[in-house]
Amino acid sequence: MAKINWRNVVLYTVVLSIPFFAISCAMEVTKLKGHNKTSNELEHTRGLLKELSDGKLGADRVSIAFSKELPEYVKGSDVFFVMGRCNFSWSNMQFEVDINKTRWYYQPLRRKLMLLAHEFGHCQCVNFTHTDKKLKDGCASHYMNGQLPQDNCIDKHWNRYVKQMKEGC
Ligand SMILES: [Zn+2]
Repeated sequence: MAKINWRNVVLYTVVLSIPFFAISCAMEVTKLKGHNKTSNELEHTRGLLKELSDGKLGADRVSIAFSKELPEYVKGSDVFFVMGRCNFSWSNMQFEVDINKTRWYYQPLRRKLMLLAHEFGHCQCVNFTHTDKKLKDGCASHYMNGQLPQDNCIDKHWNRYVKQMKEGC
């Protein structure tokens, strides 16, 4: 696990607490070099998100890359993974999405799309709030929920989340 440079996290980081999976949104002010690699895998998924959202999410001006520096930590008997994060790079003067490479490959496609939609919701829409309302069955009401929903919720409410993605920013 890479050592976390907490000095980079200046404005705020929100890591929400669901065991095993969490999405973090951070607006990070950094002097480090911005993304210098693109990933075919991520760009492919960006393309799928664009199609899914009728072009509303997945804007090219937001770069996206795998990161090995996303926090993973243990609290009690639970392990928390930060699946994705939105950063602002002062060197590139643009928002950038970081994706947890280790965890990415274990996710079903819909979950990957939910994660990307969420991070583009932050980075593209410049929206750093979460919509944490729950439906009656306990599933997240919105793809901007602070916690990445479990697979059964994503499948059950897929049409709802896709409709929200099509609404754009
Ligand atoms: Zn978030």
